[in-house]
This record gives sequence, structure tokens and C-alpha cells, in this order.
Amino acid sequence: MLSVIRTVSEFREQREGWAKEGVTVGFVPTMGALHEGHASLVRASLGESDRSVVSIFVNPLQFDRREDLETYPESLEADMELLEGLGVDCLLHPGVDEMYSGEIATSILQEGLTSHLCGASRPGHFDGVLAVVARLFNVVQPHFSYFGQKDYQQSAIIRRMVEDLNYPITVRVMPIIREEDGLALSSRNRLLSGSHRASAPGIRSAMLACDRSFRDGLIDVEVLKGELIRILSGIPGGRVEYVEICDPDTLVPRESGVLPGDLLAVAVFMGEVRLIDNLLLGLEERP
Ligand code: AMP
Repeated sequence: MLSVIRTVSEFREQREGWAKEGVTVGFVPTMGALHEGHASLVRASLGESDRSVVSIFVNPLQFDRREDLETYPESLEADMELLEGLGVDCLLHPGVDEMYSGEIATSILQEGLTSHLCGASRPGHFDGVLAVVARLFNVVQPHFSYFGQKDYQQSAIIRRMVEDLNYPITVRVMPIIREEDGLALSSRNRLLSGSHRASAPGIRSAMLACDRSFRDGLIDVEVLKGELIRILSGIPGGRVEYVEICDPDTLVPRESGVLPGDLLAVAVFMGEVRLIDNLLLGLEERP
């Protein structure tokens, strides 16, 4: 039975009960508008932990564009049905005041990983992510927490926070779930117009073309990126925000030779909707 908890104090009571029972707790933080990508994280948690908690919190601190926050999709009823059906124990659904009470004087700043890719194009975004995930970890106190490779940089940053700040939490990063046509599932896909939805799978095809060129022996980073930008720019309604090939651990952009396993990451606007995707070059199995 799914219990829905909206306050930190009520959640703490629940958590103390579980501590007394000596059970393990898995945690999936989300911003709602749930889809099969989220469900895959939830299933991983259910398979590994005695109790599973999902949070739905649209975190204002991580939005760098106001209209993005204002239009962020919401589907609480359907989300609750999905979570109930999956067998989740608890939905934590706090209001903004519960998570951030008053002026914030303490923040977590991370250097290095946060300065590349989305960190460069969305100022303050990862400060907001760290602020909310740190609070959620302190409230939920999970043994395991699940993130998607879809947000590769976010997962790397969370892993680093857990390591640096000694959180006793095992972070698992799960594969990207896609539509049949290759488009990575995202809550923001619901905001795409019909024609943008039809052309959005072009992002994945362009990335696969880049991967093929790499597998065929092309390793010059500028040539690979140039070819990818050219193909992405041909997607009707698409506007490239960034294309990067970088070290998969440090996220530092490659300046010359690309290596197997390097991260290829892109951000593309389809109209007003910003989509991101990534793959590890030369590593993953291809259909
Ligand atoms: P969000 O609700 O967008 O903040 O995402 C919550 C979690 O779900 C994050 O760890 C995401 O990386 C993960 N996620 C989002 N989309 C996908 C996807 N297509 N496949 C796997 N995980 C995903």
C-alpha cells in the first residue's frame, strides 16, 4: 500500500519505524510526470531494498529559466497510480516550504564536474540539484539511491557528493530507457509539439552516426563534433545548445584524440523544449 507523506516530520516517524525493523531503504528522487525511465529506477530499488521511497518534488532552485519551471509537466494522480502499481511503499511529496524553510545560509558547492556540459549552459542548476538531493538524503536516509544515466552529469555529481561528504549511501546509475524510435524518455517530451515530437528521434540517430564514425576509426574530436552538429542542425525545429565529447570520469572535454568509452553528450532545443541525451562512444551494443 502506497503511503503519501507531505511533511518531513511525518516522514521521520516512518523512517524511525523502519530503522527499528532493521529494514533497508531504497530511494528514487524525481520531479514527477513519471514515465518508464523512472519506473526502471523504481524496479531496481524494489528488487534490492526492503522498502522503497520515491520523492516527487519540482525543485525551484535547479531551474535556470522561469518559464521552464512554470511549464514543467505535472501528473500527480497518474504518478500515484503508477507507484502504487509498482509496489512502492512511500511517496514523499513535500511542498517548497517543507524543503526550504526561510533564507538559505548553507549551500553545497562542487567544483570540477559542475563546470562542464549543462553546468556551463545552465548557471546555478547543479547548485540547486545538490541543495535538494542533500536535503532529501538527510530526510530519507536511504541505503541505496537510484539515478538515470540519462542525466549522466547529474549522476556523476551526486556520486561525488556522496563520496566527498561521506554519505553512507550506495548510488546506482541505471541505463537510459528510450521510446521505440530511440527518443530518450523524459518528462519534458510531453511538452513537444506534434512535429517536434516527430523529428526529436533525429537526436539519437545523429549520435549513433557519430558513434559509427568513431567505430570506423575517426578519432579527431573537432571532426566528430562538426559532423554531429551538422546532422543535428538539420533536424526540423532543432537548435543545438551544446555537443561535447569528454572524459567519462572528469567530464573534461577532449581536445584531440577521442577514446573508447568517452562520453558524447548533447543538449538540443526542440522549439522551447530542451532535451538532453548521451552515449558512451564505441562501448554500447548497437542494434
Ligand atoms: P527527473 O524526474 O527528470 O528529475 O528524473 C528523475 C530520475 O529519473 C533521474 O535520476 C533521471 O536521470 C532518471 N531518468 C529520467 N529519464 C530517464 C530515462 N529515460 N531513463 C532512465 N532514467 C531516467
